[in-house]
Amino acid sequence: MIMVVHHPDYVVTDAPARSGYRWSKNRAIRDLLLAEGDRISWREPETMPRRWLEAAHDADYVAEVLEARVPREKERRIGFTVTAAVARRAGVVPGGTWLAARLALEHGYAANTAGGSHHALAATGAGYCVFNDLAIAAIRLVEERTVTRVLIVDCDVHQGDGTAALTAGRPEIATYSIHAAKNFPTRKARSTLDVALADGTGDDVYIDALQATLAPMIDEVCPDLILYQGGVDPLAGDRLGRLALSDAGLARRDALVAGRAIECGIPLASTVGGGYGDDVRAIARRHVDVILRMGHAFANAAVALPSDCSTW
Ligand SMILES: [Zn+2]
Repeated sequence: MIMVVHHPDYVVTDAPARSGYRWSKNRAIRDLLLAEGDRISWREPETMPRRWLEAAHDADYVAEVLEARVPREKERRIGFTVTAAVARRAGVVPGGTWLAARLALEHGYAANTAGGSHHALAATGAGYCVFNDLAIAAIRLVEERTVTRVLIVDCDVHQGDGTAALTAGRPEIATYSIHAAKNFPTRKARSTLDVALADGTGDDVYIDALQATLAPMIDEVCPDLILYQGGVDPLAGDRLGRLALSDAGLARRDALVAGRAIECGIPLASTVGGGYGDDVRAIARRHVDVILRMGHAFANAAVALPSDCSTW
């Protein structure tokens, strides 16, 4: 049984005007997971309380979003209009990532069917991201003393700039980003560790780079929890990606991340992330495959929780 966090508000039925984001992806992810039947255990999150949104974002920006009055220039950076439905969704998705983390601490693994909004910054959203669910959830988990150290592992093809910026100066939260060097955002932030790859990087070079950098970082940080942004846009042919992974390469990536977490006894909560192109159902399938792969990896391993670094 895989713990999956989902909320009806994740699926925005009236796509906002001027949207470059394909809103039907979230519905397709839900439907594909529903088709898995009783292999999925569904959980519904609550809206993230405003004070926790404000722990990561500027209060003025939080108010602009929640009241659906985001200035046009910020909406241009985000990539769509923040309607009332989009605002409701923006508030509940971080609640979902936080709940997935809490469930992962109990069960080893849990997935949020949305989130991974890693470009959102303190005073504005960007790149289809409104609120940064990863940073918000990590900050709340640390401040409420659910965990002492969190590692955010971001394997989206774009750098996790917002997450790095919003968690900078917090020694309890470490950030890892492996991405295409020349991709959006043009101005990168500094993660705890950035692994920037050349255009066209394929499976073997990618996996080697991930293996060589992630394992030592996990050893060094020794987190109680990993938040995994498992974007599927490193795939060859992604409309906004510059890397060249195959579907088998994405599977190897997920196996490596899950395997290392399991080996070290670290619970892991995943979010979705980028994945762009005309075939929305195929992209949703890839997001669901990430969830199923991670879920099966943890289910098949007897994970001794909580993590105990001294036994490595
Ligand atoms: Zn991306």
